Order: sequence, then C-alpha cells, then structure tokens
Amino acid sequence: MNNKEIRVRFAPSPTGPLHIGGVRTALYNYLFARNMGGKMILRIEDTDQKRYVEGAEKYIVESLKWCGIEIDEGVEQGGDFGPYRQSERKDIYRQYAEKLIGSGHAYYAFDTADELDELRKKLETEKASNKSYSPFSRMGMKNSLTIPKEEVQQKIGSGEDFVIRYKMPENEEVGFSDIIRGNVVVNTSTLDDKVLFKSDGMPTYHLANIVDDHLMGISHVIRGEEWLPSLPLHVLLYRALGWDSPEFAHLPLILKPNGKGKLSKRDGDKGGFPVFPIDWNNASTNEVFPGFRESGYFPEAFVNIMAFLGWNPGTEQEVFSMGELIKAFDLKRVGKAGARFDSEKARWFNHQHLQIKPDEKLASLFQDVLVEKGIYVPKEFVARVVALVKERASFIGDFWEQASFFFETPKEYDAKMVKKRWKENTPEILNNLILSFNDIEIFDTGNLETHIKSFLERNELGMGQVMTALRLALVGSGRGPGVFEIMELLGKDEVVQRVNKALETIKK
Ligand code: GLU
Repeated sequence: MNNKEIRVRFAPSPTGPLHIGGVRTALYNYLFARNMGGKMILRIEDTDQKRYVEGAEKYIVESLKWCGIEIDEGVEQGGDFGPYRQSERKDIYRQYAEKLIGSGHAYYAFDTADELDELRKKLETEKASNKSYSPFSRMGMKNSLTIPKEEVQQKIGSGEDFVIRYKMPENEEVGFSDIIRGNVVVNTSTLDDKVLFKSDGMPTYHLANIVDDHLMGISHVIRGEEWLPSLPLHVLLYRALGWDSPEFAHLPLILKPNGKGKLSKRDGDKGGFPVFPIDWNNASTNEVFPGFRESGYFPEAFVNIMAFLGWNPGTEQEVFSMGELIKAFDLKRVGKAGARFDSEKARWFNHQHLQIKPDEKLASLFQDVLVEKGIYVPKEFVARVVALVKERASFIGDFWEQASFFFETPKEYDAKMVKKRWKENTPEILNNLILSFNDIEIFDTGNLETHIKSFLERNELGMGQVMTALRLALVGSGRGPGVFEIMELLGKDEVVQRVNKALETIKK
C-alpha cells in the first residue's frame, strides 16, 4: 500500500449543523492531505432518509469554505470518482450486498419490528452476554439461514420487507491497527449481525461507507472516535470483499470545559460560547444556534483552535496559520485522550490572530461597525485608532468599547473619577495648559510629551493629577491608551474643544 496515492475524505451525514467535532475531523483530513500532497474529498453520506435535514449539506459546504478547507473532489467540484452524494450512488451498493450473500458473509432477514423487540427483551431478561442479533441468536430468527431457500425467494419476489445482515463469525479475533490507537484486537463474539442493506433499496452506513471508500480509492480514513466500535465490522467487510482496507486514524473526542463527557450544544448555551462553525437557523423550531463566525471569530483563529483540540506540534508555538499547520501536521502527534474545550483559550487564539492582522484590514472591518453607527471617517484615521487599541481587543466588536471616544465627544464624565481627580485648581491648570499649546509646532506624541512635562515642571505640578484630569476631559473616563497618543490622533482643535467642554460641564 506504500506507493498508493494519498486520498482522504470527510464524509458527514447531512442530519443537522456540523458540530465543531465534525469541523475538526474535516480539518485534520485536510491538513493530512495537504501535508502529504494528497487529495481531499467531500462525500455526503445521506443514505438515512429519516434523519435527512434540509439545508444541512449547504451548511457543511459553507462552513468548510469559511474555514478555508479546500475540497479537491466533492459534491460541488465533481471528480473522477463521483457522484459524491451517496443517495446518487444507490445503484452501486446492492451488488456488493449480494456478493456478500453469495460468498456466505451475509444473509437475508425478514424479522418484523415486533419480533426484533421481542428478541431484545428476551436477551435482556436472560442476561445474555451478547444482547444483539448475533451468531448466538440468529438461528432462532426469521432469516435465510433458518428458512428454506424457496420460501426466501418467494418472500423477496412478493415484495416482503427484508434486510441484508452481515454474518458475524463466532469467536474470532479480529486484529487491526489504528494510527492513533495502535494495535487493537476484538473478539467477534462481542459484535452483532449489523444490517447492511434495506429493502427500500438503501444501504446502511456500514456498507455504503466501505464500498465508497474502496471505490473512491481512499488511502486513509480519519474520523471521530465514535466510529471505532464499527471498525472491526469494516475490517471484516473489506476482507470479505477481497479488498485491501485503508489505514485508519480515530480522533479523540472533544470534551466539555470541565472535562466530563462530550461537548454538547447545551454546554455552549450554558457557557456562552458557540459549538458550531457558523450560525444554524433551525427552520422547524425557529431557533438560531450561534456560530463562531457570527460570534466574531476569525476563520484563521477558529482553525487554529480546532487544530489544537487533540493535536500539538511538540514545540512551544501555538499561533499557526493554515499554511504553518499544513507543514507541521502529523497524525502521530494526535493524542488518544479526549481534548477539553476551553472557551477562554478560544478567545485567546482570536486575540492573537487579531494582533497579527494588518491595521488596514482591521480598520476596514471596524469601519463597517462605524458605518452602522452612522460614523464616516477616513480609513487612514481608523487604522491609526486600531493600531493604538488593538492590544486590548480580542474581537472586532471590542474596538467600539475601546475606542468610541475617538469618534464622539464624551457625553458624560465618570462621576467617581471626577470626585477623586477633579480638584479645585484643575480648571485653571487645564486652561493654562491649552493656552500653552500655541507653542507646539507639530502636535504629535513626542512633542506633546516634552511640552507637557516641562509645563508641569515649570508649574511644579504632579504628572498623575494633571494627566488623569486631561484624560477625563478627552475620554470621559479612565480608559484608553496613552494620553499623548490620544491627543495626537484627536488633533489640537478637538483637544481644546473637549477640554473646554469638560470645563463647562464639570462644575463642582
Ligand atoms: N457519515 C459518518 C458521519 O456522519 C461518517 C463516518 C466516517 O467518517 O466513516 O460521521
């Protein structure tokens, strides 16, 4: 299998919005494919018509696009191994189910829902060690192993409902290896006779999945840990059909913030963080499940967060671009243990990615927020504001909170600060100070600093007292970056105006 082309697939079922666990699976497939110079395939596994949800496929495609996960072959791109939607491959599967019957690896079963229910109850009361339709119970059921051949033909011919089940061997050790978990051995006596095909003409997940992985030339199956229990069956099916199986890697679960159990939508609601990549509008309940995108995360940060849920580069570096992730990614560095989702850490990643974005880019994003507020200022000015406050922002949405005073004169002044810092002589000092501004040729941070320092010295005034009062007049509160920087950006006229306004408004 060594010289085989590297081909991986992300194979979601369109049963609802893609949880971040699914995005992480897609991402690891993508990183692996790109790292190895292979192909990334998107296959939609929509054979379970009962669980099909309108809009889910579109959601999946859009989510992957937002993340920057590029698909080489798939529902939109097409490719040599299509179609890539299982419902459109319906006619392919039956022949393989029949092949398995022919070789004695599968059989027809005619049991009704009631009969299956009865079997379950019986095995439950008997405390049987295998509680499913299995080598130990199948001979007491209605199937082609217990019914004469002609009767089987006649039942099928007359359109009676049937399923095709895999004939699990009894007491055999199946060994296989997983890139993340190493060698695993399972005794088949613990497994059941899974349904492979239904009389509605649809295969089940197991059959469709292995047939497609084989026909699409998939070299590595990288998927969530929840599929590990299905692996012995898949390995047996590959053998029964005489095919080489791909290599497997089962990714660890994403755990709740407290580490106890799988991360769910409810954890997100409780903790106030998204667990979906983009907003999902549930048409039937009118509910909106919030997404990372709409919560203000950058796609680069989101991808970085996902990458670190189960993988690490083995170095100190934490902030990665997609290109860097592709270079560094190695399935051997994916852990077996569940990965705890930490919403604080998620914010931290966004903060880091915001810091490395060019100010012009941040300025255009912030400009959209400003325009919504009816504020129109040149982008160059916004970029200078952004450069001053970005250190304090984790999201574009934080900029307004951090920098609104650059765009509007304070409407009120923080009462506590006024009480503590606005002394009787403050108006006189500030008045003299703004008068002295006439001596400054260029109103920039450096000149302001020298000028104000010497003003304070000359008048034997303390830095703290005057600067806080000045900040209060310019900003309305104690927040914001350095006062000299604020002054430079506001410009002399605006500074003078603001100080005058404060002098008029703050009367003690
Ligand atoms: N359709 C399965 C899912 O929804 C795919 C599992 C696999 O990758 O084999 O997760």
